[in-house]
Amino acid sequence: MQLTNRSKVVVKKEMTLSERLYIPAIFSGMLITLKHLFRKKVTIQYPEQTREVSKIWRGQHVLKRDEIGAERCTACGLCAVACPAEAITMVAAERKPGEEHLYREEKYAASYEINMLRCIFCGDCEEACPKEAIFLTDRKVDSLYTRAELVYGKDILVEAIEKDKRVDVTARETPDVAEFKANKVFGHNKVFDKNS
Ligand code: SF4
Ligand code: SF4
Repeated sequence: MQLTNRSKVVVKKEMTLSERLYIPAIFSGMLITLKHLFRKKVTIQYPEQTREVSKIWRGQHVLKRDEIGAERCTACGLCAVACPAEAITMVAAERKPGEEHLYREEKYAASYEINMLRCIFCGDCEEACPKEAIFLTDRKVDSLYTRAELVYGKDILVEAIEKDKRVDVTARETPDVAEFKANKVFGHNKVFDKNS
């Protein structure tokens, strides 16, 4: 039974003499290759050349510190739960008296690892974080030779304590987040004072 009128009868067409010789087909293929030699190249000489990326391009993560240099991460694990690639693992530890200037909350990540081979740079970890502790940045992940080297730990992920070496993530912060962070009334934003 014919359901539509789009069907057509397929016939096996005999090849012509020039098609059987293959020579014209080879020349027409070489002509196409030749034409591409003189066109503008779409490829670039990476890594010597790099493409310009968006300001909110999702590259290598950073674990942020607060104004006094304390780590913002409280090892709540929400980023790990949100990660579709199961790339994040961490071990939580309890902050000891006197360590308030090192860790912002009573609980912190003694170890925090992201497997860059698993990561798909979706940004879900950043979305899930309630502490503004993890951000993706416009930095590229290095090309390395072993799998182990691509499991990034805190030594790579946590930003430098020096203010002039901090990683700027303002492009990834929404105006709402920036406004919230500027309001020191919220306990979340309070700065630790050693003298209080
Ligand atoms: S960017 Fe996505 S895949 Fe990568 S660690 Fe974060 S949640 Fe996981
Ligand atoms: S980075 Fe954020 S979501 Fe992940 S464990 Fe630390 S505080 Fe929680």
